[in-house]
Amino acid sequence: MYPALHDSVSRLLEEDDVSFTFFAIDENKGSIEEYDTNIMGRFKCLNNVCPNAGWASKMIAITIRMYPEQHYNARVYHQCCKDCGSLSQPFSDDSYAQRIAYRLKKWSGIEMDRPSFTVRTSEHRHESALCEGCKHGHCRLSYGVAPLSFRIQGSNTSAEMK
Ligand SMILES: [Zn+2]
Ligand SMILES: [Zn+2]
Repeated sequence: MYPALHDSVSRLLEEDDVSFTFFAIDENKGSIEEYDTNIMGRFKCLNNVCPNAGWASKMIAITIRMYPEQHYNARVYHQCCKDCGSLSQPFSDDSYAQRIAYRLKKWSGIEMDRPSFTVRTSEHRHESALCEGCKHGHCRLSYGVAPLSFRIQGSNTSAEMK
């Protein structure tokens, strides 16, 4: 979990006069809403002797949860390094705060346009074997649902229309 990013989330929530408190206990128990989605960011292998310089992922699985009395948290799933197998912690970009703020506003009944990102098919590859989200059944790719609000370029739409 990333309580340090709460400020960024709060700032986005303030735009719509919404306010939430970070709930520091990482468990599903007591949550009133739960939502699996994905964010973008970078992983850096924490193993000093590993040659892997790090990797970017657009498919970092996260579970956003809402609790009573305007509390929320989010679990960000780690990925394993493909060179040494160590668990690596992601460093997220702005998409963390954006996704969470969007979801909390939506749960609060605020109408918004759906955010959308464009990802090329080549960037869409996801190594499920290395993804903790997939392992725990909380990665959208583990249950065969295309990641939300990612438009996939280069899919064979024309072939389907024949
Ligand atoms: Zn490594
Ligand atoms: Zn996954």
